[in-house]
Amino acid sequence: MQYNKLGKTDLELSQLGYGASPLGSVFGKVDQSTGIRTVHSALDWGINYIDCSPYYGLTKAETMLGKALQGIPRDRYILSSKAGRYGPEQADFDMSPKRIRASLEESLARLGVDELDIFLLHDIEFVDLDYVLAESLPCLEALKKEGRIRYFGVTGYPLQSVQKIVQHYPLDCVLSYCRYALHDTSLLSITELLQQQDVGIINASPTAMGLLTDRGAPEWHPADRTLIDCCRRAQQLCSEQGVNITQVAMQFAVGHQSIASTLVGTANPQNLRNNLDWIDQPINEVLVAEIRAIFAPCAGSVWASGMDENSDK
Ligand code: NAD
Repeated sequence: MQYNKLGKTDLELSQLGYGASPLGSVFGKVDQSTGIRTVHSALDWGINYIDCSPYYGLTKAETMLGKALQGIPRDRYILSSKAGRYGPEQADFDMSPKRIRASLEESLARLGVDELDIFLLHDIEFVDLDYVLAESLPCLEALKKEGRIRYFGVTGYPLQSVQKIVQHYPLDCVLSYCRYALHDTSLLSITELLQQQDVGIINASPTAMGLLTDRGAPEWHPADRTLIDCCRRAQQLCSEQGVNITQVAMQFAVGHQSIASTLVGTANPQNLRNNLDWIDQPINEVLVAEIRAIFAPCAGSVWASGMDENSDK
């Protein structure tokens, strides 16, 4: 396993990180013993970075992850969780300092740890960005000074929101999702800015939240019909060549030097084992070029997320 430094922090993240959202049963029901076994397998196989949020399964994922981490030495893993998002609706967001502080304490208790290595505002595009800059981020900075968290940053889907925040506030890192994968590489439009400012880059959702798998996307997936159709065509092309599309998706997503870690979610140890084996194998560049050609017509197929003024669509 390769380990990469996250921006200006002293954290060395495994190239592949474990995204714990499936422990909240967001992709299908997960039983506790399988969920816990997946977390233990991840650590045994060299993954040292785990990401969660109170939003995943409305605290279920953090609770299950906390059970999995019981008794594991704290220096064996780097842990991120989030605050600000507590449900699917606009009304479920609260990035006020008071809620952020309470949320951190609740997450620490569920996870069974004294401190988070990385604390992130969850999906900033749903909140007025001027408020995030004036109130929420200073709160995270204060928590860092108080020693409750080690580093902080933001997550979001629209790149223009992330860009605005980075231009106005010194962050340790950002978590972007579905913007550097086989179907969409637009994260690269802001990587130079992030690198100039020494902001660490975490890339999430290498399968685009299930789109680039044989099973396909879950019902709630926000992709439009054009993108879903392109994914099916890419999947068919791969299967005609005897290749699992998730293999190519994993190899592609971990392949950019600006990205410290790529977070993949699964509650199935075998999926995780496959992902780890695949990223060690050489990528088939010819097949990648063919798949990228399939996605060319939907290059602009981003979905709306958050407030209109913050959305890329
Ligand atoms: P993902 O692209 O990692 O896809 C997860 C899906 O892919 C699951 O259905 C899983 O079963 C399937 N999968 C994984 N490996 C597979 C394999 N080898 N074969 C077949 N299927 C496989 O998307 P994700 O889980 O949404 O993202 C990963 C993590 O990134 C999340 O768990 C979360 O921690 C983080 N994330 C954060 C945000 C945010 O902060 N806004 C958004 C998205 C993701």
